[in-house]
Amino acid sequence: MTTQRVPLAGVVGWPIAHSKSPAIHGHWLNRYEIKGYYVPVGIEPKNFETAIKTLPDLGFVGANITIPFKERALDIADNVSERAALIGASNTISFKPDGKITADNTDGIGFLNNLKQTAPDWDATTGDAVVLGAGGAARAVISALLAAGTPQVVVANRTPERAEALRRHFGKRVLVSDLQRASDHLATAATIVNSTSLGMVGQPPLDFDLSSAPSNALVSDIVYNPLQTDLLKQATALGLTVVDGLGMLLHQAAPGFEKWFGKQPSVDDELRKIVLDCHV
Ligand code: NAP
Repeated sequence: MTTQRVPLAGVVGWPIAHSKSPAIHGHWLNRYEIKGYYVPVGIEPKNFETAIKTLPDLGFVGANITIPFKERALDIADNVSERAALIGASNTISFKPDGKITADNTDGIGFLNNLKQTAPDWDATTGDAVVLGAGGAARAVISALLAAGTPQVVVANRTPERAEALRRHFGKRVLVSDLQRASDHLATAATIVNSTSLGMVGQPPLDFDLSSAPSNALVSDIVYNPLQTDLLKQATALGLTVVDGLGMLLHQAAPGFEKWFGKQPSVDDELRKIVLDCHV
């Protein structure tokens, strides 16, 4: 039976005009000559549940979910993947033909695949991790680092209660540090990650001294605007391995694309350039 529709997917958020996801998926649809469309879907928060449930009837096979709906997406899902449940939020949902919703979270695997691609010699098991921040992105980063075999993850956050909540959530391998004392934990670190919004355009700078990090440590900033944050510039000057945040954004998109459009897409320099040149 031929279908009367081309598959649709999109990114659901509010506001949504700034999202780079349409550029990523649009590029892949073109490159693989797939008949399908990926669009920004702005839904007012009061309409989220009702609007999402109409999407399958319009031909949507799935959607990325962004601010402010990542937690609410779990509440409306019929099935929640193990990693989405662990992170406590969903950034990728898929619709079954009967309209049932599966909620997944690909931020953690996107973070990890970016490190593996950019720094193939990096090995999580060789040392601890220091993670700045305890928001939604930090949850994904911490779950990925623990899954990759990081012995201990030290979490430092401005609001200590949020870091404590992560320690309770993830268990004994997570320790909490004061944000001002986080540098004290660098001596055994194999991985250092900024998952706060500090250092992003329009946000206050991140003041963090990397000088006591081991020479083989990897430093990653999940902020990607600017691409070379002050933290990454400092790490480069110290000769440390550096991974910027754009790759995480690209890699987190791949599992959704594969699920909805049936093709595993590649994350490469051409895609990076397209997204860097996309000024939405
Ligand atoms: P979130 O849940 O709102 O968390 C924000 C984090 O930043 C919290 O830890 C917060 O500390 C901290 N923070 C904010 N302002 C601060 C300040 N003035 N001083 C100290 N700490 C401050 O946001 P999120 O979803 O985790 O996102 C965090 C960043 O990651 C954003 O810049 C986002 O764009 C980026 N991100 C990138 C990717 C990627 O693919 N590369 C994916 C997801 C997110 P408190 O808890 O004390 O408020």
